[in-house]
Amino acid sequence: MNTPAIVPGQTLGILGGGQLGKMIAIEARRMGYRVKVLDPDTACPAAEVAEIVQGAWSDPTAALELAIGCDVVTLETEHVPFAVLAEVEHVRPLRPSAQVLRTIQDRYNQRHFLHRHDLPQTRWGNIESLDELVAALAHMGTPAILKRRTGGYDGRAQVRIYAADEAQNAWRALGEAPCILEAFVDFSAELSVVLARSVQGEIRFFATAENVHKDGILYTTVAPARFSPAIRMRAEELATRAAVALELVGVLTVEFFLTASGELLINEMAPRVHNSGHVTLGACVTSQFEQQLRAVCGLPLGSQEQHAPAAMINLLGDLWANGEPDFLPVLAEPRAHLHLYGKRVAHPGRKMGHITVLADTTDEALAVAERLHGQLAQAAR
Ligand code: ATP
Ligand code: MG
Repeated sequence: MNTPAIVPGQTLGILGGGQLGKMIAIEARRMGYRVKVLDPDTACPAAEVAEIVQGAWSDPTAALELAIGCDVVTLETEHVPFAVLAEVEHVRPLRPSAQVLRTIQDRYNQRHFLHRHDLPQTRWGNIESLDELVAALAHMGTPAILKRRTGGYDGRAQVRIYAADEAQNAWRALGEAPCILEAFVDFSAELSVVLARSVQGEIRFFATAENVHKDGILYTTVAPARFSPAIRMRAEELATRAAVALELVGVLTVEFFLTASGELLINEMAPRVHNSGHVTLGACVTSQFEQQLRAVCGLPLGSQEQHAPAAMINLLGDLWANGEPDFLPVLAEPRAHLHLYGKRVAHPGRKMGHITVLADTTDEALAVAERLHGQLAQAAR
């Protein structure tokens, strides 16, 4: 495709003005782009650095207003309805495309896609009624996880089922909506690959990251993952195959389970910058946010080379239990970077910011990040 590049001075549109949109916008502004963001909240994190077009993600009129005012449109969330994306794509380049989002935003479509392309995943079944759930549980066994097909994030809209007689409660808890049932994976680790694919099809990936979740929410990431090169290369190979099959332009994140036998299963894909890629900002020559900008603007990708082993720890709203935390201990650590998203309201489980640490080893970086987090948690008790 020989479409002209979108260059500094031109305007990037982002569907969604949360922390991911904000961090893309900061990189874009640094490089001389103008940035507009669609968000229902005029005080969203990205509002500090971008012009806001106010509107719900499901509002085609607002999305079109954004698109018309921009040269290219990208997104920070996979939850914008397909019909709205299709309208945007009608008037401006949308990267990644509406078609990619259609595949990813519905867990059934996503699992079916992985199956069609022979990409490894856990056992799963499509569930459209309580009867189907009961039958699938009898077949698959427990533990299993029921996930609503659309709209989930940070472990929401999913329920763990430990015994067959929990079927009805689980089905009701998710609003009796279409779901998929997944066999529980007794993983030894979770990994992710964040990569970028350019308009020309060039692919560059960041070092495979190693993630720990708590209550379904990402807690820590270290990169590079502390596993053999063979495992990391296998993760890169699978993520590359997914990106090529999707024909995605932009950043793609592929989350994996590593089983005790060393097998990698794809947990899910996100067609965007990702929480597990936050270490790239500061640790790499080009961050995931700049890489996203470069990819969607049709520019060559930057170097993903990493300067040093790195760790990231999320700062959830729980740390705000006694009011705004005292961040001086974090700021006193020379190897740490503090990122706060500027969200006005904190509540438990809400991502308010994160800390990244560079050190000589990933173990050391993680230890420093956990120590700093521990001090904040202590003060919130
Ligand atoms: P996000 O978009 O924030 O990554 P999500 O809401 O889409 O999260 P998942 O990635 O599906 O949620 O699940 C969140 C976490 O729950 C996973 O990272 C993993 O720790 C656990 N989990 C999910 N599915 C399974 C499974 N089949 N077996 C074991 N653990 C699982
Ligand atoms: Mg996930």
